[in-house]
Amino acid sequence: MSSTTRGEQHQTVPLSVLLKRELLSEKIERPEIVHGQACHSKKGEDFTLLKTDRQRLVGDGVSTYSVFGLFDGHNGSAAAVYTKENLLDNVLSAIPPDLNRDEWVAALPRALVAGFVKTDKDFQQKAQKSGTTVTFVIVDGWVVTVASVGDSRCVLESSEGGIYYLSADHRLETNEEERVRIRSSGGEVGRLNTGGGAEVGPLRCWPGGLCLSRSIGDMDIGEFIVPVPYVKQVKLSTGGGRLVICSDGVWDALSAEVALDSCHGMPAEAAAPHIVKEAVQAKGLRDDTTCIVVDILPQEKPPTSVPHTKKPVKVMLKSMFRKKSSESSYIDKEYLEADVVEELFEEGSAMLSERLDTKYPLCNMFKLFMCAVCQVEIKPGEGISIHEGEPIPGKSRPWDGPFLCASCQEKKEAMEGKGISGRLSSGSDE
Ligand SMILES: [Zn+2]
Repeated sequence: MSSTTRGEQHQTVPLSVLLKRELLSEKIERPEIVHGQACHSKKGEDFTLLKTDRQRLVGDGVSTYSVFGLFDGHNGSAAAVYTKENLLDNVLSAIPPDLNRDEWVAALPRALVAGFVKTDKDFQQKAQKSGTTVTFVIVDGWVVTVASVGDSRCVLESSEGGIYYLSADHRLETNEEERVRIRSSGGEVGRLNTGGGAEVGPLRCWPGGLCLSRSIGDMDIGEFIVPVPYVKQVKLSTGGGRLVICSDGVWDALSAEVALDSCHGMPAEAAAPHIVKEAVQAKGLRDDTTCIVVDILPQEKPPTSVPHTKKPVKVMLKSMFRKKSSESSYIDKEYLEADVVEELFEEGSAMLSERLDTKYPLCNMFKLFMCAVCQVEIKPGEGISIHEGEPIPGKSRPWDGPFLCASCQEKKEAMEGKGISGRLSSGSDE
């Protein structure tokens, strides 16, 4: 059989040899990833995920990537543990197969949105209370992609000394756009009332009293607490940089600048416990205090020296705080000359129709027949366009994809305050 012969020919170079060959050639152009982590626990609700040198076959060979996750749970740890165990798989299953390296990286922002929403939806079905922040970082070559809900943060210091905020701040106290969204989706935002009319503490949403506007879990609070992540993707120069990912226990005590300055020159393994120590010394151990430090280094440089030869000029990238999150997408590549970190993608909208609409390469058209969130197969004609019910004529047509299954469509409407969420309708009568 000719097909058998062809099959044997393909196997003459074993996969392990191919992998080794690819990894050798990768070494020249890929950074070295060194990380450290530390945690000073108070409630035991912070969890981390550290996966380095994961390999995948891509159209043009083999590629490696690393994943770092921080999950700060509240009202118990079930949501944090569940997310740690399932989120990565849910994100990867939303990436079409057979993409080359560049396509894979470009597909990540959309796959992250699908993976976050699927994880939240699946966790809801377990009918457990608790919720979690998520700061999820994928490093592929010099490209860093960060998806976040909640108030754990990821900051980047480039080798040139610029500081970049790669995660969102979904605290109601500081995020007006999110307050507006929650109110328009049927939630209330206000401070804790002590009874005598005095209001105390940070802004919270009611029912539930959560200070955050986005999370995974929190099924007892309301669908307006959405799991749709803010996603930012940047490409570092070949000088590399340092990522610091911490829970709010650190950021309530230290600014990004102070945290980064405090560990200059230290290797990542020493920097992480140092930042935790600094935070606890500054404010005491009031919360779980967790830190992951990731150094993205040129291969020829020793891992102990993040270069800081000159007094760094702080380049603060504030665009993530701009009010209109819907206007951004693939931003053109004109950036400040001093700004050597290239911004590839930024989007924070809570609307699925704005987040799942990124065009895939034409070769993946078959994906039309899978739910864009949970990846179940949908029969032609049964999928519901993500644009269904949109009032903008001409921009998109209701028969345009991507499509959702009936169950994910219900979730989408509930998140936008349009539908009646299953749990609210079947819940209490208050
Ligand atoms: Zn679905």
